[in-house]
Amino acid sequence: MAFVVTESCIKCKYTDCVEVCPVNCFYEGPNMLAINPDECIDCALCEPECPVNAIMSSDDVPAEQEQFLKINAELSKVWPNITEKKPAPADADEWKDTPNKLQYLKK
Ligand code: SF4
Ligand code: SF4
Repeated sequence: MAFVVTESCIKCKYTDCVEVCPVNCFYEGPNMLAINPDECIDCALCEPECPVNAIMSSDDVPAEQEQFLKINAELSKVWPNITEKKPAPADADEWKDTPNKLQYLKK
């Protein structure tokens, strides 16, 4: 089991989550973060930090978002590590409640 970053993060990327992770297992893409499932220790500290509830246990990922298990596993291995909060994209608030954002994911 591991924690997973899901669709709500796309184009929001507030990065509140990264500073609480004790094992620094967040990785930063152009418009989303990913958690490396091999490094995550399931501490759950990051889950309540996300203002858009994008982070959840892999056990809780709904069927329509199951592809994010693979997305986190694959992209966390190619994206750079991120350990410090940075400013969110200027239009993050406009996207935070938008559904079906997978089409906008930049790898
Ligand atoms: S706090 Fe949430 S929206 Fe922000 S980067 Fe982390 S997972 Fe993405
Ligand atoms: S559950 Fe813990 S170890 Fe896993 S990503 Fe979140 S803060 Fe890091």
